[in-house]
Amino acid sequence: MIKHIQSPVFKAISQVADRYDKEAYVVGGFVRDLILKRPTTDIDVVVVGSGIELAGAVAKKLGGVKVYVFKNFGTAMFKYQGLDVEFVGARKESYQRDSRKPIVEDGTLEDDQNRRDFTINALALSLNEKSYGKLVDPFHGIRDLEAGIIRTPLDPMVTFSDDPLRMLRAIRFAAQLGFRIEENTYEGIVSQKKRLEIVSKERISEELNKILLSKKPSVGFKLLEKTGLLPMILPELQALKGVEKINGIGHKDNFYHTLEVVDQLAEHSDDLWLRWAALLHDIAKPRTKRFDPKLGWTFHSHNYVGKKMVPKIFNRLRLPQNDKMKFVQKMVELHMRPIVLSEEEVTDSAIRRLLFDAGDDIESLMTLCEADITSKNEVKVRKFLRNFKIVRQKLKEIEEKDRIRNFQPPVSGEEIMETFGLPPCKIVGEIKAAIKEAILEGTIHNEYEEARNFMLQKGKEMGLKC
Ligand code: ATP
Repeated sequence: MIKHIQSPVFKAISQVADRYDKEAYVVGGFVRDLILKRPTTDIDVVVVGSGIELAGAVAKKLGGVKVYVFKNFGTAMFKYQGLDVEFVGARKESYQRDSRKPIVEDGTLEDDQNRRDFTINALALSLNEKSYGKLVDPFHGIRDLEAGIIRTPLDPMVTFSDDPLRMLRAIRFAAQLGFRIEENTYEGIVSQKKRLEIVSKERISEELNKILLSKKPSVGFKLLEKTGLLPMILPELQALKGVEKINGIGHKDNFYHTLEVVDQLAEHSDDLWLRWAALLHDIAKPRTKRFDPKLGWTFHSHNYVGKKMVPKIFNRLRLPQNDKMKFVQKMVELHMRPIVLSEEEVTDSAIRRLLFDAGDDIESLMTLCEADITSKNEVKVRKFLRNFKIVRQKLKEIEEKDRIRNFQPPVSGEEIMETFGLPPCKIVGEIKAAIKEAILEGTIHNEYEEARNFMLQKGKEMGLKC
């Protein structure tokens, strides 16, 4: 332990704490991650006394680094050599029924450890000279770290009822660290799930994002489903679960399929928004599901309906309503296009249309579509992946030849207006659209001369005069 707390920042805290005759400890996530060998730059320091005062004195000792003080929270922080160091006075917390904001009083280290969410997050390392590096582990956090267990230090019913965000944190840590939630702790979540009502949407999404960014996101979503939390967070995802059968014909369980897609995607992309797209790609399947006696189960237009569902979901979860959301919508809308191409004879014009619609997001779309292949039949999977290679090759060839990806009309609206003496009007748009269509169809090349000739021809057909 001592070896890992040799940075000048720890030394400075140690000396200042001794000078002020205060106990100081590095606690929580930093100690946990140190033992798990996970890189971290966040250091939380607990002082038995005033955290703000100690932060100021340590910053001074380190050459006067700027301290940010949050009086309302009784905390202070500074940045030093790429580390974020936060100081807080040891505290005792008590909760009221309608809020996850505790009533706070000054306390001892023991009080402070009691208020922590999990045994693995309640570890403290002493920074005072006499006991430098001594581990204070009242709840056997080390044992749980070694065994890979998430467990609350006190009665889980109370811990989760006090601050129900901890239920999501438990599931998030299980997903991030690949840990198991201990039985009583798990039961605590199941019985306190209703308490999630008092958690803000922003905090919920923060945890969802962390689950999505973990190595195997399905772990987190399966736990959300099993504990009964999912319908309160993403009822649309919950609705994907289950298999309906008519005349003995069932469809696949779209919940587990979706999670498989998210896991497969996670192996190839760290992009949070592409992971969201994977999570929502089939979100409209329950709404569009029909049974056709000839065709079996169909989900017509689930990609378009799904695209329309995304803003509502993002709005409810206070996720960004900007280009990130638009990207997710685009992926949901287009997620079937490459797979159709890989099944059929690939024409150049179909490839051009895909490049036009996907633009710079074509790579992301292809990654999503490859992840969407989840059949148990290995021969089928191999065939699809082989066909995808062909589609990718074609995409490359056509893009080199036709430059459709960032399509700019080779003839501008102004030139059309000037040529035919038109004011800005519908006809200009129609001619522009016809030129674009001709290029995508392959009737003309994506270049000025051919596009201008096509425009003149089109104008003539429409009875326009140059
Ligand atoms: P991450 O940095 O991955 O979000 P973390 O646990 O390392 O997770 P914080 O969320 O900043 O970092 O929390 C720091 C510490 O504060 C935790 O390790 C835990 O001891 C305590 N803590 C945080 N949130 C809660 C909570 N809701 N209830 C109880 N203790 C908490």
